[in-house]
Amino acid sequence: MTIYQVSVSKDYTVFCAGHFVTYDGDHCELLHGHNYRAAARLTGGLNDDQMVFDFVTLKRRLRAICDQLDHRMLLPRDNPLLQVVADATSVTVRYKHKTYVFPREDVLILPISNTTAELLAHWIAQQLVADVRARGALVELLEVDVEETFGQSATCRCNLAAL
Ligand SMILES: [Zn+2]
Repeated sequence: MTIYQVSVSKDYTVFCAGHFVTYDGDHCELLHGHNYRAAARLTGGLNDDQMVFDFVTLKRRLRAICDQLDHRMLLPRDNPLLQVVADATSVTVRYKHKTYVFPREDVLILPISNTTAELLAHWIAQQLVADVRARGALVELLEVDVEETFGQSATCRCNLAAL
């Protein structure tokens, strides 16, 4: 069987967002932001149209996913070191002696344990998996890169054949 791959990394598959990650046990970064860039690669067989996945749909979906993250403070829902409490108007985050309060609409709380580039890539990949499945594409491997800054990126590879 011949394997093909399509990839998308456009100047508009980007998002500018704030975050901080916990690391080395109980340490926590200072609040900061990145101009992130996302890329997606789909590997598999060809559909009836002789393509792995159509570029237009892939670009549109990756852009829409990036738009959800753009201009948001990204917070992890499941980090045991951070207490994240949302009410109708604000989100309060507590870490040791620190307390951050953000306007609710400025925040995206993600179902992940840390807002690392790795887990952001995984979250983006999960959003794309649903699209791939819905279109019945013969995709075996879905890869997403998230570049935090120039020359510094993480990749998540999801083996769809094993799911
Ligand atoms: Zn960072």
